[in-house]
Amino acid sequence: MLIGVPKEIKNHEYRIGLTPSGVRELVKHGHQVLIQQDGGKAIGLTDEQYQRAGAEIVATPAEIFQRAEMIIKVKEPQPVECAMLRPDQILYTYLHLAPDPQQTAALIKSGCIAIAYETVTDDRGGLPLLAPMSEVAGRMSIQAGAHALEKAQGGSGVLLGGVPGVKPAEVLVIGGGVVGINAARMAMGMNAHVTVLDRSLERLKYLDEIYGHQLTTIYSTHDAIEERLPTTDLVIGAVLIPGAAAPKLIARDQLRLMQPGSVLVDVAIDQGGCFETSKATTHQDPTYEVDGVIHYCVANMPGGVARTSTFALTNATLPYAIQLANKGARQALLDHPHLRAGLNVYRGHVTYQAVAEDLGYDY
Ligand code: NAD
Repeated sequence: MLIGVPKEIKNHEYRIGLTPSGVRELVKHGHQVLIQQDGGKAIGLTDEQYQRAGAEIVATPAEIFQRAEMIIKVKEPQPVECAMLRPDQILYTYLHLAPDPQQTAALIKSGCIAIAYETVTDDRGGLPLLAPMSEVAGRMSIQAGAHALEKAQGGSGVLLGGVPGVKPAEVLVIGGGVVGINAARMAMGMNAHVTVLDRSLERLKYLDEIYGHQLTTIYSTHDAIEERLPTTDLVIGAVLIPGAAAPKLIARDQLRLMQPGSVLVDVAIDQGGCFETSKATTHQDPTYEVDGVIHYCVANMPGGVARTSTFALTNATLPYAIQLANKGARQALLDHPHLRAGLNVYRGHVTYQAVAEDLGYDY
């Protein structure tokens, strides 16, 4: 199959759909890969590396969309890209269609076969192509929070790990899923004292089994959160209720319970945020202060570490890309129910129930 990877054009998006190693794997399976010139340059992946892996470098996105049978990307196609998609062309990328009627209409009109990373499933009921970005955001939340705690950033001037003779910081992680466990691991690694709250007893049991006394696990209630605010230096908001907006777990009038310069990192901001005072920020201007508490609410955290995120993404997406390329879309989708769960638009029809219901299409 002829596979094309255009350079991402969304504002401040530096990731790319395939690493050179990913290209090499596809080429070894007998496929051809087109990479747009300088597509990975911003994260140190050069055209020469892609060529050595067996890719053909092409100058324009137009040529890629014209020639390729499958387009592999990172972010949802922008309007100018949607206009270049062709009937039967496979589009394999993050889509997030439910809140995006314009993109959905454009994909329907194109006649393409659109597979969304975020709805591909696995045997354990997880979302394997979303998980790597949650791992990145979870790990990053602690370094972002540690930085925000520094005095020059408006923070309280507390070092996460303390030093001999001085107690470490208190880190409260609300939500012990993929983001939460990765945040907890980083914070424990920096010698902070970490508490994880979750509503799933099964998840708390799992965390307790693997980390033992190193980690405090508490059932998540409004009382449990409120009780801890006066002594917590850094709160990580990492909750998810699938398909719903994040619940608001810290109200504005509770901020006064916290020490001045304490930090809230709201990773759940992409679902509306789990603190009442959260509003989305960018990597250019990531923090702001409300009632003496520093807020970090970057909606696209993995974009800040685009190189690591690109490798993590290709690791997860490649096995499915190989299936699609080896078998063609139709057979691969018939053979693999978990990949089929990723199918959102097929030749002019919405094929994902939640998207059809939200946007009023037949399903
Ligand atoms: P997950 O499903 O793996 O984990 C969510 C956890 O929250 C679950 O264990 C669930 O039981 C728990 N939970 C639900 N309600 C709760 C409550 N009231 N109190 C405590 N725990 C509660 O999800 P995830 O992959 O870890 O994602 C977490 C959030 O991070 C999501 O909103 C996701 O969209 C977001 N995210 C943001 C970025 C970013 O760049 N900002 C990147 C990746 C993920």
